Amino acid sequence: MRIAIFGDIHANLEAFEVVLADARDQGCLSSICLGDVVGYNANPRECLRIVQSLNCPVVKGNHDDYASSDSSLESFNPLAEIAIQWTRDQLTSSEKLWLGELPLISKIRGFTVVHASLEDPGGWGYVLNQLDAAASFSKQTTKLCFFGHTHTPRAYIKDSSVIGLPFDQLLLEPGKRYFINAGSVGQPRDGDWRAAYLVFDEEKRMIRLRRLRYDLPKTQGKILAAGLPPRLADRLAFGK
Ligand code: ZN
Repeated sequence: MRIAIFGDIHANLEAFEVVLADARDQGCLSSICLGDVVGYNANPRECLRIVQSLNCPVVKGNHDDYASSDSSLESFNPLAEIAIQWTRDQLTSSEKLWLGELPLISKIRGFTVVHASLEDPGGWGYVLNQLDAAASFSKQTTKLCFFGHTHTPRAYIKDSSVIGLPFDQLLLEPGKRYFINAGSVGQPRDGDWRAAYLVFDEEKRMIRLRRLRYDLPKTQGKILAAGLPPRLADRLAFGK
């Protein structure tokens, strides 16, 4: 079966719709969401409703966590803090309850998914290099795990040591373990503005990274119209 694996949608409806249409075209029969459905962009409720309607495994991201609670936002940068406060004001109590009850880790069909890291999934640390990945591998009980959070697609591969590399497609080899970042649907930060997600072909043991153009000016216009910081609109164009 082919599975669409996506995360860090961040309330970007235009990017999310393009990803879902492409996943259908690619023959994906199911989906997995790596968290951060909301935050930063202007359509949190619409994106949340779509994820709910997919009826697929979803793990909780840090924005999902903070947008669904009243906890202090002082650990966030000012842009994220404004966006989370705005998102809190948009969501209904039942939507917050749904987000708040998402699991931090999920095991599906022999692999694992987590938003940030297996080492401390609710601590929201970032896996940015081989050392961080090695710490996560120490808690990884399956050969394969998918994650998000950094908004940068990357494959960490553990053989005798851990290596990290960018990829377009990756054939999983027996005897190795994999910790794979799916990039971000709604706010990529690897210098490429296009929406990112993965197609995992279980039979072929193949993972492909998809990058898709979407209606960026429309998304940016919504951010400005919502009164969110203009920098949140600007950064989308640079993939930063
Ligand atoms: Zn995120």
